[in-house]
Amino acid sequence: MQLELIGSGDAYDGTRTNAALLVSAAHFSLLIDCGPTVPAALFRRGGSPEELDAVYLTHNHPDHVLGLTTLLNWMASQGRSKPLQLICQPEQQPRLQQLVAHAHWPEPALPFALRWIHAGDALSLGPWQWAFYPTRHAVPNHSLLLIGAGGRLFYSGDGALSAEGAAAAASADLLFLECEYLAPHPSHGSWRACQQLARQPGSLAVLYHLDPACRMALAHELATATQQDAVCWQLAEDGLRWQLPLSTGGAN
Ligand SMILES: [Zn+2]
Ligand SMILES: [Zn+2]
Repeated sequence: MQLELIGSGDAYDGTRTNAALLVSAAHFSLLIDCGPTVPAALFRRGGSPEELDAVYLTHNHPDHVLGLTTLLNWMASQGRSKPLQLICQPEQQPRLQQLVAHAHWPEPALPFALRWIHAGDALSLGPWQWAFYPTRHAVPNHSLLLIGAGGRLFYSGDGALSAEGAAAAASADLLFLECEYLAPHPSHGSWRACQQLARQPGSLAVLYHLDPACRMALAHELATATQQDAVCWQLAEDGLRWQLPLSTGGAN
């Protein structure tokens, strides 16, 4: 499993791309989330319009979905013909359909098929098994656990983890955890909450979607924690890559 962090920023980070992760294995590619600054980051890395097989949208906040219109419009303009799977919760779909409609307007439809998949309705996606876990957030958000030949990937999306989500995170080899704040927060991830998670020995947790004002203090906390803990921590940055199984030292 290959991972590339397209964006690491929160909704209002002026220097980082909105949080988005590209996951690939066995010639199958999944983009998780697509905020308004994500398409430009994808264009800069020079991917093909046929590269993505699926897009999962964790929740309908603007910084996680508003790039969908540009992404689909670009695929259409570049002559994509391969179907694309769009994965969301059923209640997200009506608003996401408005973004899709704007991507092909004034044409009646996209020139390629969109296949809507409701998270939880299917047991697998491409080369992976998967599961979803709700978080506590201002709008419904679901964390994703992907289980592949290389290991287990947990992507929190936004929000404080539920007990079920924390148990899934505890099973993962590589975790992406939303960490907007240092102190506990009722509807966001935080460093204090991340610290309390049970973890697999040797697992790596990447903290993303930070309030930029918290970044320096969190970097200091992580440097101390990595020396003391048996598990690894890393501060997210745009463009970082990993693979599962983790190579020695985690990030590469
Ligand atoms: Zn967000
Ligand atoms: Zn959000």
